Amino acid sequence: MKLDLTGKVALVTGAGRGIGRAVAVAFARAGADVACVSRTEANSKQAADEVIAAGRKAHPYTVDVAKAAEVDGVVEKILADFGRVDVLVNNAGITRDGLLMRMPEADWDAVLDTNLGGAFHFTRALSRGMLKQRSGKIINITSIIGRIGNAGQANYAASKAGLIGLTKSVAKEFGSRGITCNAIAPGFIETDMTAELKEEMRKALLERVPLGRLGKVEDIASCAVFLASSAADYITGQVFTVDGGMVM
Ligand code: NAP
Repeated sequence: MKLDLTGKVALVTGAGRGIGRAVAVAFARAGADVACVSRTEANSKQAADEVIAAGRKAHPYTVDVAKAAEVDGVVEKILADFGRVDVLVNNAGITRDGLLMRMPEADWDAVLDTNLGGAFHFTRALSRGMLKQRSGKIINITSIIGRIGNAGQANYAASKAGLIGLTKSVAKEFGSRGITCNAIAPGFIETDMTAELKEEMRKALLERVPLGRLGKVEDIASCAVFLASSAADYITGQVFTVDGGMVM
């Protein structure tokens, strides 16, 4: 079975680096045009250039996903540039780790507003169009930390668990209009976000991964391509854990 996204328009947030960039490029290779949304201009442009190099249409957009008004504005631009959006990947995310007892309000807010608020803003801004076209695939990038929690990551875990609740609610609210909403929960994937892991920590983590390696961004991208394709038409409200077997 070949997973085909020919003729589809995808919007990927956090497309500037890491998992988001890999998803944007994998979508392009499967035939989709891609709106590449990121926080910094240089990174969103780099992602769009890679999509164009893969033979598809792309435009870069620079926006802070935490800001509802900015998101509404950029979605208007994207709809003008591409005509529609068939696939939304809410991937933009940050960490501000620290023990809860000393966690500054600002670190709690930044993580919740970006990781959970960003997904809410894009889903709401695109919902009218998707409901009207009676189709759409929404994919939220959560984390295994949203399933199991983690000391020092109360804000991040809460945002990622929240994304799971959002995913299931959107799946129920939009299902009758042919729109699916699923989540991918990556384990430890080699990106800038995990680059600062100390060697002992890396070793300890690897011991907990039955497949014996950290994940690659392509491991997440291939799951996203599947969920965006018609092969996943009858799947909604689910969380796909892609972590080498770390959490079972
Ligand atoms: P990354 O390399 O740090 O990239 C994060 C991307 O999100 C960047 O493109 C960044 O934009 C964008 N971004 C961050 N804040 C934003 C904002 N306020 N507005 C717009 N864009 C924003 O992260 P990653 O490792 O690829 O992670 C991607 C997603 O997967 C995140 O949601 C993360 O929580 C989740 N995840 C990652 C792992 C892992 O092991 N790496 C595990 C589980 C879940 P710029 O490029 O412009 O800075």
